[in-house]
Amino acid sequence: MKKTADTEKATVTKMVTEKSSKNAIKGNKLNEMLRGLPQVDEVMSNSNITTLRHALAHDFLKTAVRDILDEIREDIKAGVSDEYTIPTTDEIAHKSCVHALQLIKPSLRHVVNASGVIIHTNLGRSPLCDEAIKAVNDVSRGYSTLEYSTKTMSRGSRHAHIEQLICTLTGAEAAIAVNNNAAAVMMVLNEFAKGYEAIVSRGELVEIGGSFRVPDIMAMSNARMIEVGTTNKTHVSDYENNINENTAMLLKVHPSNYRMEGFVEDVSIKDLQKIATAENKRRKVAGQKNKVIVYEDQGSGVLIEDDFFKKNGEHTITDALKLGVDIVSFSGDKLLGGPQAGIIVGRKEFIDRLKKNPLARALRLDKMTLAALEATLRTYLNEDEARKKIPTLRMLTEDSSLTKKRAEKLNKAFQKEINSDDVTFKVIEEISRAGGGSLPMCDIKTYCVRASFTKGNAEAADKYLIQECEPPIISRLTKECLYFDARTLEESDFPLLVNGVKEYLSKVK
Ligand SMILES: *Cc1c(COP(=O)(O)O)cnc(C)c1O
Repeated sequence: MKKTADTEKATVTKMVTEKSSKNAIKGNKLNEMLRGLPQVDEVMSNSNITTLRHALAHDFLKTAVRDILDEIREDIKAGVSDEYTIPTTDEIAHKSCVHALQLIKPSLRHVVNASGVIIHTNLGRSPLCDEAIKAVNDVSRGYSTLEYSTKTMSRGSRHAHIEQLICTLTGAEAAIAVNNNAAAVMMVLNEFAKGYEAIVSRGELVEIGGSFRVPDIMAMSNARMIEVGTTNKTHVSDYENNINENTAMLLKVHPSNYRMEGFVEDVSIKDLQKIATAENKRRKVAGQKNKVIVYEDQGSGVLIEDDFFKKNGEHTITDALKLGVDIVSFSGDKLLGGPQAGIIVGRKEFIDRLKKNPLARALRLDKMTLAALEATLRTYLNEDEARKKIPTLRMLTEDSSLTKKRAEKLNKAFQKEINSDDVTFKVIEEISRAGGGSLPMCDIKTYCVRASFTKGNAEAADKYLIQECEPPIISRLTKECLYFDARTLEESDFPLLVNGVKEYLSKVK
């Protein structure tokens, strides 16, 4: 563990002030120990290091040695213990090699998700469907039609690959996609509400994971936020009483990651559109050009009619458009199950303006994401196929009887390979979570294999599976047991889990 300069200083200060009598002796010993450390060059010429010379660059190895020497110095200064002996040059060289080899390992890599959290933001949200992976591969391997039209044999638009598809799937007039939904919200506010007022209900001033806060985004895009209503109730009159000639937008934010229950009321898209239409009529008569628009930050991105989504209060993008929203934006990698993206759909006159906004250029999608998004959206042209092929949709909506079968298979695989004296495995009914700030109240019935350890313990096993296994295995640690949730697992993961647990047990003394 690296210590900050502050804690280091604190430790040293503590050493100096607390035991004043031993002070001098300690200080001397400290300096002596620090002086006893070998120089970087000395470690560099150790045989442990020289054997790695052919594989790794000299400067890179040197950095690794410096890191390790720094670490040892910090340990000494922190006064690890009185019996602390300085590692030999051999040991330092060995540590440096291990550290160097760690450094060349990819940092961003595959993990096995046995946690049961489906859209796990820390684990990359939605896994892509095979079609999307193939498209990314094809497009990134060589050159592509990213901004080239074979039809006109001249420059094309990168929006064209997805716009028609999105419009077909949602019934929108036009569409554009940017880096993520946070970017989409920022761009929409910047284009339509910069220097004007945007009205939003106090019940919808949400924070979405990773420090996306509606008031902050408003401030950044120079829109004046007019908060109306109360936390639990906002009425039509709240909007009506606050709308004026400076109002540019009625903003509705979908409470993706929380639900309010009890004495609550919000104003529907339909009613917001009524208010906007009345105001726009008035402005037309008055000869004013600028319009009030209704924008919904929908977040989740549901494209198909499904009882599962309906039951959990998630309406489709098509529904929002039918209710009369002018613009709606949503994420590509939440319930939609595609790559990270922010998709904006709605009336053509507004989307056309967004396409010309400089932020559209700054926040544009790269070819790999576009390829993945196009392929994912194409899969949606056949809803039944989408349910089967898009991993996020499949995991969210899979019947728990199928999940149970997979859990039983995993249980068998564990039992077959692992000594039952060391650990007992059992299939247990449990709850999976949608994750990614989606469907917060939704308990998705699932089945896990529960491992109760008699040799070693669950906490140490968890650490081993995450830190020593390649790929790392992320499971659930609860009540001194490890739970492997079959809902987010595939059968091809099973040998990795079995080997991981087996290896852990073999290392327990
Ligand atoms: C998730 C979410 C966002 C942020 O979207 P990202 O794609 O993560 O940038 C914004 N608003 C709502 C309502 C959301 O659910």
